[in-house]
Amino acid sequence: MTEPTPGQSMVLKEDRFTRHQSIKWWDQQKLANARVLVIGAGALGNEVIKNLALLGIGHLAIADMDKIEASNLSRSVLFRESDEGHPKTRTAAMAALELYPTLDVHVIEGNVLADLGLGWFRWANVVVGALDNREARLYVNQSCVQTQRPWVDGGLDVLNGIVRGFDAPRTPCYECTMGNADWQLVNQRRSCSLLARQAFDAGGVPTTITTASVIGAMQAQEVVKRLHNLECLDGGGFVYEGLRHTSYPIQYTHGKNCPWHEQPVAIEVMEQFNSDTPLHTISQWASQKLGGLDAIDFSRELVHTLTCPNCKNTRTMFIPVDRLKPSELVCENCQQECIPAFVHSVELNSELMQMSASQLGLPAWDVLWARNGMNGIGIELAGDLETQLKTSRVHAVNRED
Ligand SMILES: [Zn+2]
Ligand SMILES: [Zn+2]
Repeated sequence: MTEPTPGQSMVLKEDRFTRHQSIKWWDQQKLANARVLVIGAGALGNEVIKNLALLGIGHLAIADMDKIEASNLSRSVLFRESDEGHPKTRTAAMAALELYPTLDVHVIEGNVLADLGLGWFRWANVVVGALDNREARLYVNQSCVQTQRPWVDGGLDVLNGIVRGFDAPRTPCYECTMGNADWQLVNQRRSCSLLARQAFDAGGVPTTITTASVIGAMQAQEVVKRLHNLECLDGGGFVYEGLRHTSYPIQYTHGKNCPWHEQPVAIEVMEQFNSDTPLHTISQWASQKLGGLDAIDFSRELVHTLTCPNCKNTRTMFIPVDRLKPSELVCENCQQECIPAFVHSVELNSELMQMSASQLGLPAWDVLWARNGMNGIGIELAGDLETQLKTSRVHAVNRED
C-alpha cells in the first residue's frame, strides 16, 4: 500500500471509481452497462443493493412486496425509522440513489410469484435472489432457466449462510440441489389450503445483519465476477460456517429428475403485443409461426373461480394465486374457505381467448408460451416494456414526496 504524498493528492482529482481502475482486470464500463434484478429487499437484499450501488452497477431493478416494519431496522442499512410503513422497494431504491446518484433504478412492488413479469428477467444480465423461502427460489430458478439468465442465490441461517450460482440448463440449478427433505416441505405447503399456505409463509427466518453482510457481499462479488467472465459459482455454492469457520465450497450435480436441463424454448420479442392484447390476436400470430396451435400456457398459475363448499356460491376471479388476500378466500355469505379452480393454459377454442393477459390476472411485460404438438415458442409482451421501465423508475428528486 502506498500513500500519495501530500503534493500528489492535491493535484490528483480522485474519481469515484479510481480504486477500482487500478485493478488490472476491472472494467468499470461493464458495471455501468450492467442490468441487475434483485429479488427481495429484506436484510440480504439491502446488503446486495448497497454493494451494487457502491460498485457502480448502472441499472438496478428491485422487487419486493413488503412494507418496512420496526423489526427490519436492525438488519437493513438502507432503511431509517422514519421509513416505517413505506414500501421496501422504493425506500431501498432512493437510498441506493443517494449512494450512487448516476444509478438507473426501477422498483416492482409486488409478490414475486404473482407480479413480476418474465420481461424483467429478460431485461437483466444477472438476477440476484435475496429470498427467504423455497417457493420463491423455485419460481426464480424456473424463470431464470426459461429466460436463460444466470442467478445468484443467498441464504441465511443465524451464524451460517450460503451463496450459490446457477446458469441452467448448462449448469446444475437450484432444483438440482433440493433433497427429499426440501421437497417434503414444499409439498407440505402446496398441499395446504390457500389460507393455511399464507399462514405457513408468515413466520420470519431468524437472521442477523452480520451474516447478511457476509452473504450479501459475496453475492454482489459473484455478480461482478460474472460480468467480467471471471471464474464464479457456476452450478455450485459456498457454505459459510460462522461458528468454527470451517467454510467450504460445494459443487452440485445435475438432478436426475430435474426438468430444467433441456434446451429452453426460444422467446420472441413481440413489440406489437402487450398485456392488453386479446389472446386470440396473439394466437393467430403464434398459429402461423408454429403451423397450428394447441394452447397458450401461462408463466404462473391463475385462480379462475372460488367456490364455497357450503352454499356453492361461485366467484370468478382471474388472479394469480399468490395475489389473493385472505379476505378474498372466504365466502361472503358463510365465511367458509372457498375452493379454488386454477387455470394455467388456454386452448384454442376456449372463450378465454377473448381476454387479454392483464384481464386474466397476469402481470405486465410477461411471456406467454404458445405450443403446437412438440413445438413451442415464448412470446414476450414487449409492447409493455417502455411503460414498465418508465413507471417503475425511481428518481432522486422524488425523495421529498
Ligand atoms: Zn436442475
Ligand atoms: Zn358460502
